[in-house]
Amino acid sequence: MIKVTVWNENIHEKEEFYKDNLLKFYPKGIHNAIADFLNKDPEIEAKGVTLDMPSQGLPDEVLDNTDVLFWWAHAGHGQVEDSLVEKIHKRVLEGMGMVLLHSAHYSKIFRKLMGTTCSLRWRETEKDRERVWTIDYSHPIAEGLPDYFDIPGTEMYGEIFDIPQPDDIVFISWYAGGEVFRSGITYQRGKGKVFYFSPGHETFPIYNQAEVQKILTNAAKWAKPTTSTVRPMTTCIDVAKSPEWDK
Ligand code: ZN
Repeated sequence: MIKVTVWNENIHEKEEFYKDNLLKFYPKGIHNAIADFLNKDPEIEAKGVTLDMPSQGLPDEVLDNTDVLFWWAHAGHGQVEDSLVEKIHKRVLEGMGMVLLHSAHYSKIFRKLMGTTCSLRWRETEKDRERVWTIDYSHPIAEGLPDYFDIPGTEMYGEIFDIPQPDDIVFISWYAGGEVFRSGITYQRGKGKVFYFSPGHETFPIYNQAEVQKILTNAAKWAKPTTSTVRPMTTCIDVAKSPEWDK
């Protein structure tokens, strides 16, 4: 089983403004909505945790037993303790997968993993529309996805997205305003696999769409740790003294 922890700051869930949108679409919060559809896959065991729980939802015993960490965040980036960010970063380098969602582009952990500002253009209107194109059709995260699918209500996230060159660009989005965005991208950091997926604004039921659920289920499977036991070298090897040299 792939052990997935879905972390959510759980701030909007407690605000009046979101009663008619977020809470209507996801009555148990974004974290549980995502965990629920991930759990429909027999290979995945997903659990939602939140910033307002003890140890900010990620005590060592949870973090150390997580294969893939999902991260939804928007208003609470600054509340995440730097010591927790360090622990998550270490776990990614050791092989834990990470899936960062929507405004998690500005989270401390994503910026640390990227090393850039991760800033982007954005616009939020009722009338926006997003077409998500599958670019890397042989990528495991694109398995079962069509050439493209539409998201009828969305928040525009546009280029320039200040990130390092991705390893893979799996999806590119087009918006009604003519903007484009690298909306599904991957990175390797140490032994860990990282996927960022931009759709997921809190006032639209984007995580209820079948295509989005398929992408995130594929991402959990793709990002799970590998079983390789190869470790980075920590000492200089003297070739001349290597027993292999004289053979
Ligand atoms: Zn948003």
